[in-house]
Amino acid sequence: MELYLDHVGKNYGGQTWAVRNVCLHLKPGVLGLLGPNGAGKSSLMRMLATITKPSEGKVLWNGVNITKKPDRLRKVLGYLPQDFGVYPNLNAVEFLQYCASVKGLTGRSARMRIDELIQLVNLTEVCKRPLGGYSGGMKQRVGIAQALLNDPELLIVDEPTVGLDPEERVRFRNLLSDLAGERIVIFSTHIVSDIESTATEIAVMQKGALLSYSDPEHLLKNMQGKVWETMVPSSQLQAVKNQWLISGLVRRSEGFQVRVIADKTPFVGAQPVAPTLEDAYLSLTSFGGERA
Ligand code: ADP
Repeated sequence: MELYLDHVGKNYGGQTWAVRNVCLHLKPGVLGLLGPNGAGKSSLMRMLATITKPSEGKVLWNGVNITKKPDRLRKVLGYLPQDFGVYPNLNAVEFLQYCASVKGLTGRSARMRIDELIQLVNLTEVCKRPLGGYSGGMKQRVGIAQALLNDPELLIVDEPTVGLDPEERVRFRNLLSDLAGERIVIFSTHIVSDIESTATEIAVMQKGALLSYSDPEHLLKNMQGKVWETMVPSSQLQAVKNQWLISGLVRRSEGFQVRVIADKTPFVGAQPVAPTLEDAYLSLTSFGGERA
């Protein structure tokens, strides 16, 4: 099972490219697709979900070009779009029955699969209530259930944690890590902590370009010796902010404990500290590439 993106680009008709020159080679595992708003994550995912076609390059699913033969991928694809909507008057079971019939799943096997998924996403107690009364997190869990109806080999979830409260966010994250296993999962977000504990690989995008594609350990290793902490008096904080890339700030009685990203010691007495993925992401998106 493999998904290969060969110099994939998307242009909606203007001067700029929403996605340009993206090359990825995915095997089973969880890819965290990280990038700020407008980075091109949704555009990339819509191409992978065969909703739109690449303007350049190609996408191969097990060696088959998905633009030429989209059905090969569609039958093993689960997709939760960012703008996933539900019918408010249907309950979760009715909605999933509707989605199942659209996907060509009917009868006893569909009913069994829906029961199984409702349990998996932890909606058993509320599954007979109309979806209009669900919280954001509950709706997203219905969204994930519909994406899993066909037990997909490729599961694409586009910014699924937007609008969720912290508790729902953690629950959703845990659910996704349980689902990983023998499939390729692509999970996009602009929040590092969403993918910190789940991603086996991380791709960072900005302004349409892929800034980095590696495993989390490699990202952290690249940041070794580049993250520092020091105390700064309040009166000097603005000057420090103007000069250095700050990845964290904690107010203390004697000033601010500042976390700085720099190749060399930024101040006398600054201590090197262990980098986090947040540091790596900030460093890449601050010093990284330009729009293609
Ligand atoms: P992200 O998902 O990372 O927020 P998007 O893929 O939504 O990024 O957007 C990338 C760029 O492409 C943005 O500049 C956005 O305005 C543009 N864009 C996205 N969808 C369309 C579209 N359908 N038509 C024209 N431009 C679009």
